[in-house]
Amino acid sequence: MTTTSTSAQEFFARTEAAERRSADEIGQILENPGFGSTFTEHMVLVEWDKEQGWHDGRVVPYGPIPLDPSAAVFHYAQEIFEGMKAYRHEDGSVWTFRPERNAERLNASARRIAMPELPPTIFLDAIKELVTIDEAWVPPAGEGETSLYLRPFMIATEEALGVRPSNSYLFCVIASPAGAYFSGGLKPVSLWVSDQYVRAAPGGTGAAKTGGNYAASLASQAEGIENGCDQVVFLDATEHTYVEELGGMNLFFVYADGRIVTPELTGTILPGVTRSSLVELARERGHDVQERRFSIDEWREGVASGEITEVFACGTAAVISPVGRLAWNGGELEMPDEHKVTMDLREELLDIQYGRAQDAHGWLYRLV
Ligand SMILES: *Cc1c(COP(=O)(O)O)cnc(C)c1O
Repeated sequence: MTTTSTSAQEFFARTEAAERRSADEIGQILENPGFGSTFTEHMVLVEWDKEQGWHDGRVVPYGPIPLDPSAAVFHYAQEIFEGMKAYRHEDGSVWTFRPERNAERLNASARRIAMPELPPTIFLDAIKELVTIDEAWVPPAGEGETSLYLRPFMIATEEALGVRPSNSYLFCVIASPAGAYFSGGLKPVSLWVSDQYVRAAPGGTGAAKTGGNYAASLASQAEGIENGCDQVVFLDATEHTYVEELGGMNLFFVYADGRIVTPELTGTILPGVTRSSLVELARERGHDVQERRFSIDEWREGVASGEITEVFACGTAAVISPVGRLAWNGGELEMPDEHKVTMDLREELLDIQYGRAQDAHGWLYRLV
C-alpha cells in the first residue's frame, strides 16, 4: 500500500514492505548483528535531475536498485556517502548525533565531486523516515554499544559514457543494525605505515567522503594485513612525513602532561564529526588540544621517550579504538599499555549518545 503523509515529511511517499519480519526474528538478529551485513526492511530514495531538482522522495522496501550498465557511477565513480548511527535511549526514544554536520559534509563532498547539493531538511527527513518505519531494528537500550548504523549515499545515474558531471542522481539511505565495529571487542588496533601508497594528495579528494578514497586505500590495507596489522596509517603525499589518518578514522595522540595532538585539517584529511566532538570534550576536561601538523618521527620519538602515553583512532563506526602497535618496513613500536584518557573520552561520548549523560552541547537529534 502506498500512502503519502501530510505531515512535515510530505515530501516522501511510503510503500511498506508486503511482509514484515516478526519481532522475534528481528530480536534474534539484534542479539548478534555484526557490522554492515544485515539491512532493515526499507530504504529511502530521492531522485535529482536538472529539470525537477530533488523529487520523487520515497520510502520503499529494501532491495536492488536497477541501473543501466552505462550509469555514470560505474565508470567515473561519482559517489559520496555518510555514516551515522541511531541510538536507543532508556525511555525507548531514538536519537542520532549531530546530523546537521553530516548533512553539511555530504554537501561539501557533493561540491568536490561535482554533484548537486541536497537540502539538509531532505537529508534529515530521509533519515527520520527510515528510522521511523524500521524502528524495531534499533537495538534496545542498555545492551552495550549496539545501534542502527545509517548509510546515506548519492550516486550518478546518467546513462551515457561521456566524461562530465552526470545530469541525474539518486540519493539513498539504508540502515543496518550494528554491534561493535571491530570483532573481538575493544582490543588495541595495530597500524601499518605504508611507504608505497598515499590516500589523498593536496588538491585531491581527501576531505570528501567519496568511495574513490576507499578504493585507493584497499591495496595498502591489504599490504598492512600481510604485515600483520589491522589498519593502515597514511602519511602526507608530498613529504611522506606528516601523519594524516587511517582509511576511515582520525587519530589522536595523548601526552603525559595532558596535551593532546590531532593532525590539523589540511584538506587531505576527512573532517570527522567524532574528531571535532572529541576536540571539544577534551578541551572541556582541561586538556590542551592542539590541531597541528604531526610527523611520524614525532610519534616514534614521543612513544620511545615516554612523552606520548596514549594513541587512539576515532570515527562513527568504531567510536574510539586504542592504538596498540605501529609497524613499518623495517621496524615496529609498541604503544604504552595505558588507555585512561582514551577510555574516559570514549565513555563520555557514548554516555551522551546513549542519553546516559546530559547533552550540554545540544548534539542529539530526536528521530523517534
Ligand atoms: C568517515 C571517515 C572518518 C570519520 O568521520 P566521522 O564523522 O567521525 O564518522 C574519518 N576518516 C575518513 C577517511 C572517513 O571516511
